[in-house]
Amino acid sequence: MALIDKDWENVLGTLECESLLNGPSKRLSAILNKAESGEVIDRDEALYLVNIEKDEIPYLLLTASKLRDSGKGKILTYSKNVFVPLTQICRNRCGYCTFKYEPGEGALFMSPDEVVDLAKKGAELGCTELLFVTGDKPELKYPVYKEALQKLGYETTADYLIAMGEAGLKENIFPHTNLGLATSEELLAFKQSNPSMGLMLENISPRLLKKGQAHHGCPDKVPKLRMNTMELAGEHRIPWTSGILVGIGETWEERIDSLLALKKLSDDYGHLQELIIQNFSPKPGIMMEKYPPPSVVDMLKLVAISRLVFGEGMNLQIPPNLNPETYPMFIHAGINDLGGVSPVTIDYVNPEAPWPKLEIMQDMVEDLGFTLRERLPVYPEFIDNEFIEKDVLTRVVNFVDKDGYVPLEEVTNG
Ligand code: SF4
Repeated sequence: MALIDKDWENVLGTLECESLLNGPSKRLSAILNKAESGEVIDRDEALYLVNIEKDEIPYLLLTASKLRDSGKGKILTYSKNVFVPLTQICRNRCGYCTFKYEPGEGALFMSPDEVVDLAKKGAELGCTELLFVTGDKPELKYPVYKEALQKLGYETTADYLIAMGEAGLKENIFPHTNLGLATSEELLAFKQSNPSMGLMLENISPRLLKKGQAHHGCPDKVPKLRMNTMELAGEHRIPWTSGILVGIGETWEERIDSLLALKKLSDDYGHLQELIIQNFSPKPGIMMEKYPPPSVVDMLKLVAISRLVFGEGMNLQIPPNLNPETYPMFIHAGINDLGGVSPVTIDYVNPEAPWPKLEIMQDMVEDLGFTLRERLPVYPEFIDNEFIEKDVLTRVVNFVDKDGYVPLEEVTNG
């Protein structure tokens, strides 16, 4: 209990309020009551929450936490993964990227043997997620890449990823692919080995494609095309992870509109299994080196608003390695997932950010009155034959207990 108080004190300290003395305004009360009763808040209400006074923010956080508790109980989840950067060549040039390099600066792609070795190593160390992250469609921009890929027997990066997902599954670890834009046929092929997949929306605003903005010169970052891929995934009943990137030059309206676009996707198709609220972190050498990262207060507000927009059922995550000092505070803003950690590989997208130590994460979660449970890349509520191909499902159910989590054992980092 002591840590709950101490941690809540941290939240109040960060918000610069001493206690909950003044009570919420009438309008805020009405919105919070509406959300607590299970109704969806609308755009105006979400935007009202953006502008509440600092000393009202704790009330927003309390409601978000109540909703999480009501939908998810006192369980926080994480997954144990192996990060596979199949290729770091990419046809885009996002202003915040440190992942991409040019041909000649490193290998064009990982070899099949390297992928299988990583899958084996991960499976041996108890990882259940083979997380494929790649640059987008380098074959359309770089002839040298295309030729090398063809020599290996593949026409596209998607074809290669599909083959590597199948190879990984044979090693008893579940591929979860972040391909980028995908066709209907590609998605169906991925579904034969991937129990779930992902694509961050990042932001719904086409403004960010304009000159000087984060997504200028990025054909794969057109929001409509990203939504289209996710709609196709919905038609194919593929459990899907998405989310938004915060602090890349977007306005608060654009953040809220991005959440609402994903909420509509979720309502229309029912396949959105997880929503990630990912904060941009500046790094030396990138185009956006001088952009300020979003403040903790803004992130707390946004996470809590996300919980109110999506309601009690959504799995809501902030990446702990991008918030190493503050991630416990987000438990008070309604998250129920602490993302992936890896005993094998670094986070290639944020190489400066080490994974949290599992033992420390478990102690912290327990001190806050929660239980930490390991999940597969696919969430328990999507483990059924509507969402997972028969052969993959047979393997999945062998890995989980009756509640859909990896059976409990003592948490270790290796
Ligand atoms: S799409 Fe990904 S890899 Fe490509 S430039 Fe953008 S952030 Fe980097």
